[in-house]
Amino acid sequence: MLPLKDRGLLIVISGPSGVGKGTVCSYLRLEHPELAFSISATTRPRRNSEVDGENYFFMSREEFMVRRENGDFLEWAEVYGNLYGTPRWAVEATLARGQDVVLEIDIQGALKVKEIFPEGVFIFLLPPSKDELEKRIKGRAQDSPDTIRYRLSCVDQELAVINEYQYAIVNGQVEEAASEIKAIISAEKCRISRYKELEYWKGGNTCD
Ligand code: 5GP
Repeated sequence: MLPLKDRGLLIVISGPSGVGKGTVCSYLRLEHPELAFSISATTRPRRNSEVDGENYFFMSREEFMVRRENGDFLEWAEVYGNLYGTPRWAVEATLARGQDVVLEIDIQGALKVKEIFPEGVFIFLLPPSKDELEKRIKGRAQDSPDTIRYRLSCVDQELAVINEYQYAIVNGQVEEAASEIKAIISAEKCRISRYKELEYWKGGNTCD
């Protein structure tokens, strides 16, 4: 197993629907190819702009339930009426290789991950204002009016759990939000707790 300081970080990014998690993560993915992004499984119908295996693994409820029973998901949750799950094996293998993994998941999922991986980095994305959030949810124009209404009705409940996270970032400008996330990742890499095992002093290794 890799020494603590070389292990990948598990970075969880969540926040209310429409806050721009997907946009910030797409930007991070382009700018920081060293980060791995988990691709979730979902039973939600594919949006026109989405590609199976890139945005999500789209599957039937039956297939999802079989995978869930097999223990294939690190966490799973029902979000706005659809099932979503984080594939366990890909995440664990990537972390074990020493690569950082980003999960873009909802709040229920983030809280479950926190129980299993308390050493993860939990980042909450906030909208600049509630009005702006409403505008973004409505402006996405890819969801039905019922879905939009439902997602809007969940916002207050979603914002209420912010204290479970370590970091909050206001997503006004995507570039700024992404660079703040990158700064958090860099700082987390320097935590004293990652240097608890001081083996790297031995055998002439350096710490860079
Ligand atoms: P959307 O349908 O808009 O792509 O995603 C709806 C919500 O599900 C978002 O808050 C998104 O972050 C969340 N989500 C996506 N993948 C997962 C996952 O694997 N697990 C959980 N718990 N939530 C997810």
